[in-house]
Amino acid sequence: MNSRTKPPAGMGAGEWQARVDLAACYRLVDMHGWSDLLGTHISARVPGEPDHFLLNPYGNLWDEMCASDLIKVDMDGNVKSETNGYVNPAGFTIHSAILMARPEVNCAMHTHTPAGVGVATQKGGLLPITQHALHVLAHLGYAEYGGFETDPAERDRIAAAIEDHNVLVLKNHGLITAGRSVGEAFVWMYRAERACKMQLAIQQAGAEIEPIDTALVEKSLALNKELNSDKGHRPIGKNEWPALLRKLDRVNPGYDQ
Ligand SMILES: [Zn+2]
Repeated sequence: MNSRTKPPAGMGAGEWQARVDLAACYRLVDMHGWSDLLGTHISARVPGEPDHFLLNPYGNLWDEMCASDLIKVDMDGNVKSETNGYVNPAGFTIHSAILMARPEVNCAMHTHTPAGVGVATQKGGLLPITQHALHVLAHLGYAEYGGFETDPAERDRIAAAIEDHNVLVLKNHGLITAGRSVGEAFVWMYRAERACKMQLAIQQAGAEIEPIDTALVEKSLALNKELNSDKGHRPIGKNEWPALLRKLDRVNPGYDQ
């Protein structure tokens, strides 16, 4: 637990902690340059309430998000917390799809960065040409472009595409990551974003690409699955998240209000 502020009357400590982590995540996404004005969204499941999750109020900029701003909704889109705001319908569709399909996932992130959309629009998607891409490709799937995701019928399609992956490339649209914690989902996005940025940099340079041997690609994907698991030496987000919160406390405090 890292929250230093107390939950408001009537709210459990688990929900407050999820709110603090999620508000921090919005600010960190903005700090890294991945926000899209008011667009896209990040969700966190409410601990002890598997059918309830938190989303941003549509209208807040991400660098100003606070724990108390976030809106609790159920899997049918009903608002379950006191608020004057409302959630983005596309956000509800994407996040309810993932959280319903994956009970072990507690946070889902969605971005529209130039690098993420840049790679999502390429026929070959993320190419196995860098070590960073191999880290991500071991846990990555694709969903065909489905237009604006406001139709709840889209949920089945998104759920089928993400399977057991942590990174989902929405073709022609952007990236989604999923994690058991907010920190895990954030670090998956960090890795995916970086791998996409590198691919674009390589392509923009126009030099001939040195390929990685196919057998080595296969071996690396298998090894990455092991290293990124709880048995590996770098379980995703565990060490990074407290460090990221310390950074946020230095440069943009107040998310835990
Ligand atoms: Zn989107």
